Amino acid sequence: MSRRIDRNVVEEIALTRINKLMMLSKEKVAEDDMEYAKLYVRLARRIAMRTKTKIPKEHRYCKNCCAPSTPKTSRVRLNAHRVTVQCTECGCIKRIPYLREQGR
Ligand SMILES: [Zn+2]
Repeated sequence: MSRRIDRNVVEEIALTRINKLMMLSKEKVAEDDMEYAKLYVRLARRIAMRTKTKIPKEHRYCKNCCAPSTPKTSRVRLNAHRVTVQCTECGCIKRIPYLREQGR
């Protein structure tokens, strides 16, 4: 009666699909097709949400407009003990602190 699929199997399938979609998305960025690049990230996010899997760290994307973070679509700077990543598509800025132990 139960048609539950093993959690590991779900995760494995989800991850291969996420990886594939993120790869396609980056290809679309290279082709200057941002519409499709963002669509692929949205699909990958939907799979991740539905299956409760995490999108691997190497696949970064803008949380605001879903553009994949590539050298072409993001600007990365180091200042004031923060890594600043700005999305060139929508202009939103993400700041990641580092050197947290300084100033103690
Ligand atoms: Zn953005």
